[in-house]
Amino acid sequence: MTIDSELLRTAPKVSLHDHLDGGVRPGTVLELSAAIGHPLPASTAEALADWFHEAASSGSLVRYLTTFEHTLAVMQTAAGLHRIAREYVADLAADGVVYGETRWAPEQHLREGLTVQAAVDAVRQGLADGMADAEASGHQITVRQLLTSLRTSSPSTATAQLTLANRHAGVAGFDLAGAENGFPPSLFRDSFELLGEAGVPFTIHAGEAAGPDSMRDALDCGAHRLGHGVRIIDDIEIAADGAASLGELASTILDRGVVLEMCPSSNVQTAAVGSLAEHPLRLLDGLGFRVTVNCDNRLMSRTTLTHEFELLANAFDYTLPDVRRLTLNAAAGVFASAEQRAELIERVESAFDALGS
Ligand SMILES: [Zn+2]
Repeated sequence: MTIDSELLRTAPKVSLHDHLDGGVRPGTVLELSAAIGHPLPASTAEALADWFHEAASSGSLVRYLTTFEHTLAVMQTAAGLHRIAREYVADLAADGVVYGETRWAPEQHLREGLTVQAAVDAVRQGLADGMADAEASGHQITVRQLLTSLRTSSPSTATAQLTLANRHAGVAGFDLAGAENGFPPSLFRDSFELLGEAGVPFTIHAGEAAGPDSMRDALDCGAHRLGHGVRIIDDIEIAADGAASLGELASTILDRGVVLEMCPSSNVQTAAVGSLAEHPLRLLDGLGFRVTVNCDNRLMSRTTLTHEFELLANAFDYTLPDVRRLTLNAAAGVFASAEQRAELIERVESAFDALGS
């Protein structure tokens, strides 16, 4: 069973987990690298796109993360950040996304003298210009920032404070990312407490390279959503007759309706799951978990949200009503006011109604 890809592209989509530095256009990496003399492993946009995809498919999250050196190299100036944020919105708009949250770590953009605030401002302006461009061509899209702290950096509340300072200026929330093993979320407990007291939502990458303990720690820290969370499957037993028996953690995640930001292609590339057919997304979806579909890094996974849904449709016989349900899960999980969330849900519902699903 497949869904027509043009229909999927037209369907309204919500993107919760898509890194700014993982969605740079290959041609932009080439052009900006040439301007600053940064050496690249390939000399044409097509060969560079191949290189990113292959290097990211090694099966190691740590190796996967090294590919970001080349995108980060061209994201050290206000002009570079502005252009990449603007193109990010254009690419999501072309993919039929109506609402997105882009995450990135300001601390990784200071090599050429930018302050973290100047970096946030450059991304904000780039996103705003991208949204205006899309609007001018007839597509309404909202993209807001999530500011990321890296778990391998020495724990500090600096990025949480930066998030608070910009919460009314296009920054929707906070994220914790980076190598998961050996760096439990609770190392950043001070940041989560600060955000929690101010009512600012946050998500934590957990249950990707590490198992249930990492997810439990993230929930104990107050995470509103979990990045990936595929390893929750380790806490679920499936009997011979197909009946599922949930452990305590899995039950908590299900009962609380914690949003799981799953990224099918990326999860296969980093070997968090063995293959797309084995991805726990369908099982979890069937059990009522609030599963969402995301790209993670469009450049490294050579993907779009349309493509991710296409892969799921092929693997799991998903049809348009399934895409609608998964998209509504994402709309219900956006880091926005209750009013903005309700508006988004209504927009998604009526667009799917118009598509006849
Ligand atoms: Zn991620």
